[in-house]
Amino acid sequence: MTAGYPFSAVVGHDDLRLALLLNAVHPAIGGVLVRGEKGTAKSTVVRGLAALLPPVAVVEGCRFSCDPAAPDPACPDAPHDPAAATRPARLVELPVGATEDRLVGSLDLERALTAGVRAYQPGLLCAAHRGVLYVDEVNLLPDHLVDLLLDAAAMGRAHVEREGVSVSHAASFLLVGTMNPEEGELRPQLLDRFGLTVEVAAAREVDTRAEVIRRRLAFEADPAAFAARWSTSDTELARRIVAARTALPAVRLPDAELRRIAALCASFDVDGMRADLVLARAAVAHAAWRGAGAVEERDVEVAARLALPHRRRRDPFDEPGIDEETLQQALRDAAESAEPPERGPDDPDGGAPAPEESTVDGNGAPRDQPATPPAAAPDPAFRARLLEVAGLGEGAPGRRSRARSAAGRTLRASPTHGRGVHLVGTLTAAAPHQVARGRTGAGVLLRAGDLRHAVREGREANLVLFAVDGSGSMAARKRMSAVTGAVISLLLDAYQRRDKVGLVTFRGTGADLVLPPTSSVEAAVARLRGLGTGGRTPLAEGLLRARRTLAVERLRDPQRRPLLVLVTDGRATVPIAADPVEDALRAAGLLAADGVASVVVDCERGPVRLGLPARLAGALGGACVRLDELSADRVTGVVRAARRAA
Ligand SMILES: [Zn+2]
Repeated sequence: MTAGYPFSAVVGHDDLRLALLLNAVHPAIGGVLVRGEKGTAKSTVVRGLAALLPPVAVVEGCRFSCDPAAPDPACPDAPHDPAAATRPARLVELPVGATEDRLVGSLDLERALTAGVRAYQPGLLCAAHRGVLYVDEVNLLPDHLVDLLLDAAAMGRAHVEREGVSVSHAASFLLVGTMNPEEGELRPQLLDRFGLTVEVAAAREVDTRAEVIRRRLAFEADPAAFAARWSTSDTELARRIVAARTALPAVRLPDAELRRIAALCASFDVDGMRADLVLARAAVAHAAWRGAGAVEERDVEVAARLALPHRRRRDPFDEPGIDEETLQQALRDAAESAEPPERGPDDPDGGAPAPEESTVDGNGAPRDQPATPPAAAPDPAFRARLLEVAGLGEGAPGRRSRARSAAGRTLRASPTHGRGVHLVGTLTAAAPHQVARGRTGAGVLLRAGDLRHAVREGREANLVLFAVDGSGSMAARKRMSAVTGAVISLLLDAYQRRDKVGLVTFRGTGADLVLPPTSSVEAAVARLRGLGTGGRTPLAEGLLRARRTLAVERLRDPQRRPLLVLVTDGRATVPIAADPVEDALRAAGLLAADGVASVVVDCERGPVRLGLPARLAGALGGACVRLDELSADRVTGVVRAARRAA
């Protein structure tokens, strides 16, 4: 066997190495998700770890790697020959293009029917049993495969079923997924199912980088000699893994540390109880790794750093990754909970809430958590007002961080309680009727029948295509940040609804489809943030670009009704045929003729207003909302009036 790059020769990547080691000690932690750019030696580190794993004893001839000491009673290869053999722990790679059959194995139905035998060809989950399953670019894997993968990792078994014939076998493995966040995020539900997450980046320090290169060159020049030089440290690590595995069952988790874990998870605003379990397991594994007999505060801290950040309930504004500040605060708060309950917190107006004080939402998760304001919101007050549209402002009055955390809470609570207004849905319903209803000024004319409530069941998802004016007349710093705030607010709503979103921008000489329709609102927010501004206003071009995009999407996904959100001051300056404004109005007419529902967000400001956005809305047959009116009070006010009238 050719020597691989030794694990202990890896420079830096401390979190990654520790996360892998803890999982090697205690695979029930649930694997590691490695986030980072390409070219950061992720696979080298993982390979190095696999080489450290102790060899596994297997039943000879069993394709499913049964342990001779405890063979799987349901093993498809049973009954077994009692002969035992030993083989190295495997590192199995799942290629991005893998099929479901390749992953879980395939049943040969034809053979089953003709020869009467259960012909099962094991897949990669079987090969990875008792080893490492490495999935490069797990975010690019189709969702259903990631589901299968995570199911198997959680249950330690794989199932394959075809036409009522099913096979099941043990598949317990250390799951390592890597992803480059720039290529798209994992769905939050999947993110949460990885045990630990680490961020990796190439080192910035010159000395470190030089050392990385020095070792790499030495390794390439003579792999065997290089491996030999590091073999003592690698052997020592391998020995520690085995020792920690042996010690693991005896490691105690004192009640105080368990309470610390529970308080941490509560204050970090995580979903459900998975985080608590992962944290407890990781802390126990870390204590075992240190050779300690009981979990201490430092074990919980290490576990929290690796297990918590990716579990925080996030909206698209949250930068993924470790928010060191939040973590430190949560650890300080949790320290009080680690004390016996009868002593109670000394600080009368702060710190971690005692269990009986915290309000619990429908998911059983405490909602009285400190929340950091989303980084992208340029004007939190504006956003908060807007987000009250989802109807949440009614709950939990007088909470400490109400204004700051309104966004996160609002998002969760609205669909579960099934009340409040679904903004995008309501606007979509109202938009086609604005002309018929004789709308004259700004604002949307709503009827009771337009109301769409935020409910989870039976709701259709839409395509919300934003057409954002990035021209010079929009570029005043404050205005653009208000525009970004408005669009992001609508994106949030779309995110919650599982809408698809797209982004067309126009400025200078043309229009760009900056973000083709996608389900990744994170991508939309990222593009929006990076939006350039300045130049002339090719409004007609922007509308035509939006129209082409919608036409393509109609073919691709005919069931999905689109909503066009045009964000502009209407001051078109680039003509297509004749007059810039006339051209824009004609383009708007084409969209109306296509039956596209639309809303114009009127960004015109200043003492002299030309009223062009309203004219555009008229031509689109859609609603016109002034940027500063796109607020909760406004919309709920109209909604209440409509309710009374009904
Ligand atoms: Zn077997």
